[in-house]
Amino acid sequence: QKDWSGSFPSGKKITVVFVIGGPGSGKGTQCAKIVSHFGFTHLSAGDLLREEVKSDTEQGTMIKNLMHEGKLVPSEIIVRLLLKAMLASGNDKFLIDGFPRNEENREAYEKIIKIEPEFVLLIDCSREEMERRILHRNQGRDDDNMETIRRRFEVFQQSTLPVIQHYEKMGKLRRVVHSEDYDN
Ligand code: AMP
Repeated sequence: QKDWSGSFPSGKKITVVFVIGGPGSGKGTQCAKIVSHFGFTHLSAGDLLREEVKSDTEQGTMIKNLMHEGKLVPSEIIVRLLLKAMLASGNDKFLIDGFPRNEENREAYEKIIKIEPEFVLLIDCSREEMERRILHRNQGRDDDNMETIRRRFEVFQQSTLPVIQHYEKMGKLRRVVHSEDYDN
C-alpha cells in the first residue's frame, strides 16, 4: 500500500465505466458526450500520461519514449495516475478511456483500485476509418505518424483484444458502432 496516495472511503458506491477502442476510434469524442449528459468525470489514460510527460522527470522521459514508439507504459504507472486523478476529482462516477489496454493493466487495476466496472464500452470502428481520423486530427501528437500508428494498431490487436474478450465473457461488454464524424 506504500506509494498509493490514498483510497476511497469504504462503503461509498463508486461507479466506473471503461471505454476501449483502437487508436483514432473516437473514444475522446464519445466520452465528452457521455460526460456532459450523465455527470461522470472523464479520465483519459493517454491524457494523464501526456500530462506526466510535461513534468521534466526521469519517469516523464521514459513515458515519452514508450509513447513515441507506440508501446504501452508499465501498468503500475498508469494505475497510480488514475487513482490519484479519481481521488482528486471528488466525484464518484468515472468514465475511464483508453484503459485497460492489456491484461497487465486489468490485473494491476483489480489489485490496486479494485472497483469492478459497471460495464465496458467498446467503440467499434474500422481500421480505415481510424487511420483516416488520426491523419486528419492535427493535434500535433508525436505518435500520430504512420510508423507509430502501425505499431499502435498491432498493440491493439495483440494486447487489447484479449481484454475485450475477457469482458465479453463476463457479459460486461457493450459495443457502440461508430458514426462517421471527423472530430476526435
Ligand atoms: P491514446 O491517447 O489513448 O491514443 O494513448 C496514447 C499512448 O499512450 C498509447 O499509444 C500508449 O503508449 C500510452 N497509453 C495510453 N493508455 C495506456 C494504458 N492504459 N496503459 C499503458 N499505456 C497507455
